[in-house]
Amino acid sequence: MEQRVLPVRDALNRHYWDGAQQEKLVLLACNHCHAFVHPPRPFCTSCGRTELAPTEVSGRGTLYSWSVMYSGGNPGFDDRLPFAVLIVELDEQERLLTVGNLVDASPEDLEIGAAVEVCFEKVDDDVTLPQWRLVAGGAQ
Ligand SMILES: [Zn+2]
Repeated sequence: MEQRVLPVRDALNRHYWDGAQQEKLVLLACNHCHAFVHPPRPFCTSCGRTELAPTEVSGRGTLYSWSVMYSGGNPGFDDRLPFAVLIVELDEQERLLTVGNLVDASPEDLEIGAAVEVCFEKVDDDVTLPQWRLVAGGAQ
């Protein structure tokens, strides 16, 4: 089987992957205006300041959009076809979006606005991926 492409930690995303390894969803938050900044950047996208701190969030959100992969050629994923890649709007902040795969459900079960929650897929000793599942009884 082909090697799955996995994330590489760097100075800007280390908090996210280290948090995932502890089964926590950790994003950067601005020390000044308290806005969350994700995907991570070296400055606050709301106020421009550079003092950002890793902060755990609830891991709850709603389905903002998704795409379904039907064809192969994605190393390490072909045995999962079809699978859905979700864009989730987190409860903490309007338009605070994050990306992960759908687990424990079929793409046909998805609808915009459905309640989702994070879960964690341990790939190996170094990498755990935040993924998403539908919350039972879920539309908000
Ligand atoms: Zn700020």
